[in-house]
Parts: sequence; structure tokens; C-alpha cells
Amino acid sequence: MTIAIVGAGLGGLTLARVLHVNGIDAVVYEREPSRDARGQGGMLDIHSGQRALREAGLIDRFYAIARGEGQDMRLLEPDGTLLLQEDTPEDAPLLRPEVDRADLRDLLLDSLPDDAVRWGHAYESADDGVLRFADGRTATYDLLVGADGANSRVRALLTDARPAHIGQHVVEIGIPDIDRTHPDLAAMVGRGNYWVLGDGRSLAAQRNGDGRVRIGLNFYNTDEDWFATSGIPFDDPAAARARLIELFADWDTRFTALIAACDDTVQPRSLTSLPVGLTWPSRPDVTLVGDAAHLMPPVGEGANMALLDGALLGLALAAHPDDRAAAVAEYEREMFERTSAAARMSADMQELLMSPDAAARMLTFFQPG
Ligand SMILES: Cc1cc2nc3c(=O)[nH]c(=O)nc-3n(C[C@H](O)[C@H](O)[C@H](O)COP(=O)(O)OP(=O)(O)OC[C@H]3O[C@@H](n4cnc5c(N)ncnc54)[C@H](O)[C@@H]3O)c2cc1C
Repeated sequence: MTIAIVGAGLGGLTLARVLHVNGIDAVVYEREPSRDARGQGGMLDIHSGQRALREAGLIDRFYAIARGEGQDMRLLEPDGTLLLQEDTPEDAPLLRPEVDRADLRDLLLDSLPDDAVRWGHAYESADDGVLRFADGRTATYDLLVGADGANSRVRALLTDARPAHIGQHVVEIGIPDIDRTHPDLAAMVGRGNYWVLGDGRSLAAQRNGDGRVRIGLNFYNTDEDWFATSGIPFDDPAAARARLIELFADWDTRFTALIAACDDTVQPRSLTSLPVGLTWPSRPDVTLVGDAAHLMPPVGEGANMALLDGALLGLALAAHPDDRAAAVAEYEREMFERTSAAARMSADMQELLMSPDAAARMLTFFQPG
């Protein structure tokens, strides 16, 4: 059986690794030209996905790169009131450690044979067992797995569903080498997550493994074209910073100081999700893992679900070596149930974040009763 996986993200690589440890070959086709072709994003908190890393035989190596102190949490209100501070004790179990997405991807890539990932292969279309790439090359498959993320092209083979705007825009900015450049702000943010939740806006800062603090400035209940009307000049980082400070001018000056300290990387993102509970009629020759199957609001489930999808599809294929249809159907049954629960939970959390009393509700979430 020739297994073609499109996308060398967390879901696709975990699938390739679990197949590999079970003696099954697969080829991963990735559109990026090389492993370092672009920045790999920030931190992910890995909880239920740890099971996938165990199945992949990588859990000890994962704990070696995970940051337990990244679980620290500070929750504040826009006027600077500290509502909650949770510092992780040294000996706390690694229930939800943070890991740099680039480190986790490297761990998975390094665990595969050298020729398992074919870089520079941008999937274009597939039918009758033939894959076509953007540059005209082709490859054959018996089973095609779309692991090509939020804007999956493989998805169209199974469903007409498309991601829709969730009413949230994010501007990602960051402070490099914060301990040296801004020790006062470094102490304020701490070792993990730093959240300020307000009415219609939030600021989420997080220390990364490389000493950079990444900051997401979130705008809620926005129309799809909000960036066009926001007055943020993304092609001029200094002017963009100034406009962002203006948009948070009614907040405590410690928060606008964070924005002022950022470098010139200003990344706008408009957020989308797939319908909760999306399913499709099973086919023996095509399936999906990760965001391609169940893109959800980014509240900490997507990466874990992608890891689990990859591992559980790999195990199902290993358990039914001669019955691909049964393996795919078994995987999808479990995946639909597990990921619709996660998507429902993510949608509820998203509703909380968008509400006018988000900070108070988040405090109750962390300290019920
Ligand atoms: C560069 C990057 C940075 C990210 N940063 C963060 C972050 O900071 N925080 C966070 O919470 N989440 C982040 N994410 C998203 C998060 O990793 C995913 O939501 C989650 O891990 C789901 O994984 P996935 O395997 O389904 O998709 P992804 O991890 O998104 O991987 C999809 C892969 O498919 C490839 N691909 C897409 N289209 C094609 C095509 N046509 N042909 C071939 N390959 C294709 C992409 O290049 C990518 O490597 C990031 C994703 C990416 C790609």
C-alpha cells in the first residue's frame, strides 16, 4: 500500500512516525522548500497530545524539550488589576507543558528516515490514485492523507465545507531577547502566559524558548474585512505600532509599553474555523488529519488533536494492514467524536473570550466556586 501524506505539520509527521515505528512506509509531501524555509510559530501547550508522542516512541525526548514553567499563568484586567497568578512549582507534573512548535516539528522530523519528507511539493489535485503537484510533477497513492492544515486543498475531495471567519482578528508582534532588552517587562510577563482580557479586545503575551516574548493583540466581534478599516498600516511597522498603541490607549500604560517595545515583525491574522461536528462519508482512498479535518478557534486544542489524529490513524492502519477501508472508517469514527467535543469546548471558550465580562468569567473558569 502506498501512503501519501500531504503536509509536514504536526499531524502529518506524527502519522508518518507512528507508521514508521510499525514498519509501514509513507511519503510526506510538503510545499515548503526546506525545513527552515519559514518561521515555525510560537508555543503550543501539549496535554492530550502527549499520548500521541508516547505511541510515537518520543515521549522522553518530548519531555526534554518541553518547558514546565511555561504553564505559569497571569490574568489581568485592562486597568492593570492582577486577578490571578499561578506559578508552576519545580516538581510539578508536566500536565500541560509548553513547547516551541519548531522544536516539536524538529523532533518529529528527526525521528523519520531521511527520504520520508519530500520538500518543495505543493499539492494541487488528486484523482484515480495520482497526485499532482503545482510544478507539474506527479506521484501515485493508494491512500491519500490530507494533513495540509487550515486552508487544506485535499479537504475538497471529501467535503464542500470551508473555514468561516469567527469574528476575531489578531495582530502578532514580539519583543526579542526580552531579558536583556527590557528586563522590567520580562519580569512583568513572567515565564509563561500573560493574559489581559478586556471588552472586545485582549492581549496575550507568552515567553518563547528562544527568549522572545510573542504578543497577540486580539480584536473581537470583528467583520471579515476589519483589517482594511482598522487603520493599521501593516507595511510600516513603526506606524503600525503607533496605531496599535492608539487602539489600546484606554488600557494601563504597562500594556502599551509592551507594544512600544516590539520589533518590526507585525503579522496580521484573520481567524477562521470549520463547522463544529463536521463529518463526511468515509472513502477508502482519502482521509484528513488535523486542522484540515477540524479547524477550531485557537484555544489550545488544535495541535493536540492533530497529534492524536496522526497517531490514531497510524495505529488503525497498522491494526488492519489488509483492510484500508476498515482502518480509515475506524479512525474517522473515533476522530469525529473526539474532535467535535474539542471543537465544542473551543467554541465555548471563544464565546467567553468575546464576552464583555471575559476577565471575570475566565477567573471563574480557573477558580470555580
Ligand atoms: C508555520 C506555522 C506556524 C504556526 N504557529 C502556531 C502558533 O504559534 N501557535 C499555534 O497555536 N498554532 C500554530 N500553528 C498551527 C498549529 O501548528 C496547527 O493548528 C496544529 O498543529 C495542527 O497541525 P496540522 O498538522 O493539522 O497543520 P499544520 O501544523 O498547520 O501543518 C500543515 C502543513 O501542510 C503544509 N501544506 C499546506 N498546504 C500544502 C499543499 N498544498 N501542499 C503541500 N503541503 C502543504 C504546510 O506548509 C504545513 O507544513 C502554526 C502552523 C504553521 C504551519
